[in-house]
Amino acid sequence: MKDQLIRITVANGQARAFITQSKNTVEKARQIHGSSPVVTAAHGRLLSAAAMMGMTLGEEDDKLSIIVKGSGPVGSILVTANSQGQVKGIPENPQVEVANKANGKLDVAGLIGPGTITVVKDMGTKEPFSGTVELLSSEIAEDLAYYYLQSEQTPSALALGVHIASNYRVEASGGYLIQMLPDSDDAIAAKIEERVIALGPVSELFLKGYTVESLADALFSELGYDITERLNLDYVCSCSKDRMKALLLSLGKEDLLVMKEEDSGAELVCHFCNSTYYFTENDLESLIEFLGG
Ligand SMILES: [Zn+2]
Repeated sequence: MKDQLIRITVANGQARAFITQSKNTVEKARQIHGSSPVVTAAHGRLLSAAAMMGMTLGEEDDKLSIIVKGSGPVGSILVTANSQGQVKGIPENPQVEVANKANGKLDVAGLIGPGTITVVKDMGTKEPFSGTVELLSSEIAEDLAYYYLQSEQTPSALALGVHIASNYRVEASGGYLIQMLPDSDDAIAAKIEERVIALGPVSELFLKGYTVESLADALFSELGYDITERLNLDYVCSCSKDRMKALLLSLGKEDLLVMKEEDSGAELVCHFCNSTYYFTENDLESLIEFLGG
């Protein structure tokens, strides 16, 4: 079954919500990057968040990126999503491990460390919008809720969770994002908060067999809700030999000559999906000719 992403209108439009079930997407990310369990958890939380936040964008081609820059061993983590349920990401040091927390849980906060989280929204013709806040807990969900409050003045509740089996495979993954709309009734927010607390950690809900639909029902049935959009979610990279060619051309003739004469070719790796693109001496020669060399 494909991963799911839904958009929900709650209590006649007083709040909106997004729920994702992202197990296969995060497992694909794990396999591409060969990531350790704790990195898979951190990267997976960010991929789930980006997928839902991407759904808040208006147009098909709009993109949203989240960049976490901490002082912990993973270095930075970048994730990108569009509004159509396509996500991808790059953890800088995917194989690093950190000791589990005293309660036996993966220590995402220790992996990331103190630092900043930045959200960039690239909406076509307009200037990209970007906001940065300090990491509060480095557990990601709380940090993104803080980002929404500080940078977009939108009270938000986020839950993100990844459960990893003892064989390192992703056993459950997903999350939800709930946002109160301007002038909404405080009683609605209080009711939602009550449900969020009652339901507990989101990875455990998915592990128990919750779907995006049954989770929507568990959160919002008392307030009334409508599912207004459904998407499949997947880890997708749009790199291609043509895009790599464009990248090489942008380096200019001098660099291409060096690659041709000293390296006898070029090998480019896409860090989102680990695809390798080879350019032979002849390929480079034709690019140099194209640039008028
Ligand atoms: Zn790629």
